[in-house]
Amino acid sequence: MSATEGLYEKSLKPLKEAASILGLESDVVEAIATPERILIVSIPVKMDNGRIKTFTGYRVQHNTARGPAKGGIRYHPNVCLDEVKSLAFWMSIKNAVVGIPYGGGKGGVACNPKEMSQDELERLTRGYAAAIAKFVGPDVDIPAPDVGTNAQIMGWFADEYFKITGKYEPGIITSKPLSIGGSVGRGTATGRGGFFVTVEAAKAFNIPLKDAKVSIQGYGNVAQPIAKYLHELGCKIIAVSDSVGGAYNPEGMHPIKLAEHKQKTRTVKGFPGSQEIGTADPLTVDCDILIPAALENQITKENADDVKAKLIVELANGPITPEADKILREKGVIILPDVLANAGGVTVSYFEWVQNRMGYYWTEEEVDDKLRQIMTKAFKEIYQTAKQHVLDRSFKVHSEAHELNLRIAAYILAVKRIYEAMKALGRI
Ligand code: NAD
Repeated sequence: MSATEGLYEKSLKPLKEAASILGLESDVVEAIATPERILIVSIPVKMDNGRIKTFTGYRVQHNTARGPAKGGIRYHPNVCLDEVKSLAFWMSIKNAVVGIPYGGGKGGVACNPKEMSQDELERLTRGYAAAIAKFVGPDVDIPAPDVGTNAQIMGWFADEYFKITGKYEPGIITSKPLSIGGSVGRGTATGRGGFFVTVEAAKAFNIPLKDAKVSIQGYGNVAQPIAKYLHELGCKIIAVSDSVGGAYNPEGMHPIKLAEHKQKTRTVKGFPGSQEIGTADPLTVDCDILIPAALENQITKENADDVKAKLIVELANGPITPEADKILREKGVIILPDVLANAGGVTVSYFEWVQNRMGYYWTEEEVDDKLRQIMTKAFKEIYQTAKQHVLDRSFKVHSEAHELNLRIAAYILAVKRIYEAMKALGRI
């Protein structure tokens, strides 16, 4: 199965389950589920060898009842409409889960950024920005980075947009370099937000963090900061991988040294003192906390039974298939769902947008404190909703941890918020 096969259909499953708990009719569910606007653009790019290569780009605005569409741009060979639709849908849910005033959107270009020069990436980004410029804007749709894109790419996108509109509007895109209106703390925000909810979950479910064994699939933008913060609390990073290979050391590996090794060699493989493992092996090693931080559909019905973690923190979007989710919960594994666990990134993107609109900038402490408050509140609301749902369902006074379905609880909260906004606007 390819990582994105049938992804959109699968991504709607928790929405349907939450909607049925909320008693919403199928026509309403369809209105919430269906993307509002889908753009498919072709981007001819002059490559360094003088030839023209035409790339396909996408932008999906899923739901804008709670605010302008908001979501990243992915550069990856597997980018396709089904994937971008799922990612945009998850953004609608995620923004509602943390209560920030945005709808959901996502974009992407099918390309392999690792095989492109900086000049080619710049021309591709400017071409993509020009192709979608009429349909985005600080009050309409605000992109950000995702897999394969970074602050420099955001800078090129912003510049192209400024040239087209003739206005300097930094709120058009987030995760920009600081020199053009980026926010302090954005680079580490997704990992930082994941860290805050991991700490809350560890408290709620009595998982000691001192010496906890942590395993991470994918060691990029989101994984490296959470590894550092957990290590600082005394956790041991025992396994990591990336698209090339993995490194395992039951005694623990230093997260910053791992990042430096990856920076130097482009992979974590071969980290001094480690044993070589495969890209998927971190998912099934013996650990307390598992952090999938690469791509979708990594834990499936084929490997879910081999997962040994007590807690899974979904920093990647959609890393667990619905079948695997069921198997894991039956095994008693607690899952912090992506729409909560990785919402720190969009939350600090929201802070960046607010600062851009005010033209006034916060300190790192202010950003961190506001992020902590939002993530902690979201975790508590979801945890309470999950507990309430177990009580409603089984009339039990005390529920077992594994009965708590934090994903469905997050969807219940988000769907309710989106439904109320659509209702208030008279869209349904
Ligand atoms: P990234 O490109 O910086 O890192 C991804 C990492 O995953 C890389 O180390 C890559 O080598 C590795 N990888 C890719 N395929 C792999 C495979 N098959 N097995 C093992 N490792 C593999 O991307 P990122 O920004 O860190 O994003 C990672 C995930 O987090 C994505 O699902 C993304 O949608 C999600 N996410 C990112 C942000 C953000 O702020 N960057 C916010 C929310 C969610």
